[in-house]
Parts: sequence; structure tokens; C-alpha cells
Amino acid sequence: MDLERHDFQLSELVKKIKDNDNRLIALQVPEGLKMQALEMMDKIEGDSEAKVILAADPCYGACDLVHDKMKMMGVELVAHMGHSQMNIDSGMPTHFIPVTYDGDPEIEPVLSIISKHKAMAEHRLIEVENNNNPVITENDGKARFLDAVGRVSPLKGNKLGLVGSIQHLHLLEEYKERFERAGFDVVIPVGGERLTFPGQVLGCNYSGDRDDIGHYLFLGSGDFHPIGLVMHTGKPLALLDPYNGEASEMSLERIERILRQRFGLIMAVDECVNFGILIGEKPGQMRRNLAIRMKRLLEKHGKKGYLLALDHVSPDLIDFYPVDAFVNTACPRIAIDDSVRYAKALITPFELEVALGEKKWENGYQFDEIP
Ligand code: SF4
Repeated sequence: MDLERHDFQLSELVKKIKDNDNRLIALQVPEGLKMQALEMMDKIEGDSEAKVILAADPCYGACDLVHDKMKMMGVELVAHMGHSQMNIDSGMPTHFIPVTYDGDPEIEPVLSIISKHKAMAEHRLIEVENNNNPVITENDGKARFLDAVGRVSPLKGNKLGLVGSIQHLHLLEEYKERFERAGFDVVIPVGGERLTFPGQVLGCNYSGDRDDIGHYLFLGSGDFHPIGLVMHTGKPLALLDPYNGEASEMSLERIERILRQRFGLIMAVDECVNFGILIGEKPGQMRRNLAIRMKRLLEKHGKKGYLLALDHVSPDLIDFYPVDAFVNTACPRIAIDDSVRYAKALITPFELEVALGEKKWENGYQFDEIP
């Protein structure tokens, strides 16, 4: 990682510590910045009177804020890096530092990809107009479930939706103008309360999606957010990576492979009787009501659900329970991205509803979003 080009906003943090006269603070950083954490702690301690405790447990999002344990240690302020505030209260004063990156890639390499995607969106619009309320058989429904693009969203336009990960959101307005000059009708979607900034997406929330967006461009790196975006929206997605300037697209074969795997798991749990229902203990992952609803649903179908609360979910912590399968209400990406690591089927609440016949295949795959 090119640290020189990231803005960690340490002087603003030190100013806040001095203004508050804090003596003990906690620093919480994402996994990719753990190597640099000690250097940051030296800097903060050198420039202020405060002592710094690193919250060294894994942290993958703002859903996982330091809370009561640090309060018990006497921590007065939490500095949380790499994520932005979401609609949860950890009970601790928290200073969020988004950590922006100044990479500014050329748009030319991605233009041919988004032109192709715009044509796909136009084609879909015509299909939607010609195909109002078609009669769908059970097999058509299953085929629709496996179709990565063009399944669910009620498309009404072919605009380009411009989104990004938090390090690059400050560039979106400038990129909107660049893509408009290149002839595209561009929107920066604004999502719900879990998201702080226009154009922001999380691995569990793509709530800015709109009917008039026909295709997307993601400014960022890696495939974590892109996979979720296509699974959630069913729309073509181009990728522009500010770290290396490379343009690419999210492969639809890749998404269809994931959907085939989800299809297989839904079929596999059909005969299961005893389920473990996972409840995440992290403040922004805790969906107790959803878990209880799943337990009631299982009971309605003559099956049994055991509620299991965990902070971290991993195979060694759950595989040994004598149940047939697990339903995960913690971070939605545990079931989607990690299910192969588990010995037993690990499914989302929506997938359980399909398996029990409460939701229909033909409505397409419904991504497990935390609002
Ligand atoms: S719930 Fe999962 S996807 Fe959502 S912010 Fe937390 S770690 Fe990321």
C-alpha cells in the first residue's frame, strides 16, 4: 500500500484529543492498516498527552465499533479508521477517519466497457417493455434465479450509477463531470441511513440503487463490494481501480457461479430439520428480531431453530454443533463469501425462506441487506 498517498488525518485527531484533554484513547484500524498501527500510535503519543491502546481484534467495518470493553478499561475516545459512521450507537465517543487516497485514474480505459453496459441496459429496457407480467413456470423461475443480470430490478432508465469505496468517494463529483463530458448520463446514488456519503456502498448495503440506473461504475479495488453490488442490483458493473489505473468489469460468469452455489445450498437444506441460527454480537450486525422470525418460521414448518450469539463467526466455533445447517443473521457476507469453509450448509434468511417455500424462485435472488 502506498502510504504516502493516503490521508490518515492524524493532526485533526491529535487536535481533537488535545481539545478534549483525553488521556486514554483507543485506535481501531482495518486489517490492511494493522502493520502501520504502531507507527501511528507513536505519532499520536508523541504529539499529545494521551496514551493509545490498539483495538487489535479483527475489524472489517464500522459495524464492528469498539464498545463496552474499552469503556471498562477507561478509554475516553475511539479513533476508528477506514470506515464511516453508520446508524448505530456504540455507546463510546468515536472519531471516524475515512482515510482517503489521492489516486486519480484516467477514464479512457473504461469507456468501451461502460458503452457496452449502456447498450445492455437499453436492451433490457426494451425487454421489460415487451414483457410485462409474463406467465412463469417453476423451471423458468429457477432459471431466472440463476441469471446474474436482468432478473429482478424494475428497470426504468439507462443512467450510469457512479459509486465507490470510502477511500475514493471524494473523487466522485469530479468523475461525474468527466463521464458526462464523455456522453454518459451519470448519477451518484444516495443510499439509506447506514451510508454516510453519496455514492457510498458497503458489502451489506447498496440502498442507493434506483430504477433509472441501468449500469454501474465502481471506483475502488478488489471484488468484495462489486460482487455484492451485482448480486443486489442485477446490473452490469465496470470497475476502475485508482491504485493501478486498470479498468475491468465484474464477470457475470463469476456471479452466476455464486448463484449456482446458493441454489445448491437452498436445495440441500430442504431436508434439514435442525438449524443453528447465528446472531452477530457486533453492534452493527445484530439482527435479533430477524433471527427470532427465522426461528418461528422453522417452527411453522415443523423444524427446529437454535439461537446462537457470537462476536466472530468461524467454522471452528460452530461446525461441531449437532444441527443439520446454519442460518446466518450476522454479517451477510459470511454466508455468501465464506460458505465453502463450513462443513454444514450456511445460508441467508432469504435463502431459508425460499427453501421453505415462503419466497418464490422467480422473483430472483434477493441479496441479504442490512438497512
Ligand atoms: S456487516 Fe459485513 S459487509 Fe456490512 S459493514 Fe459489517 S463487515 Fe462490512
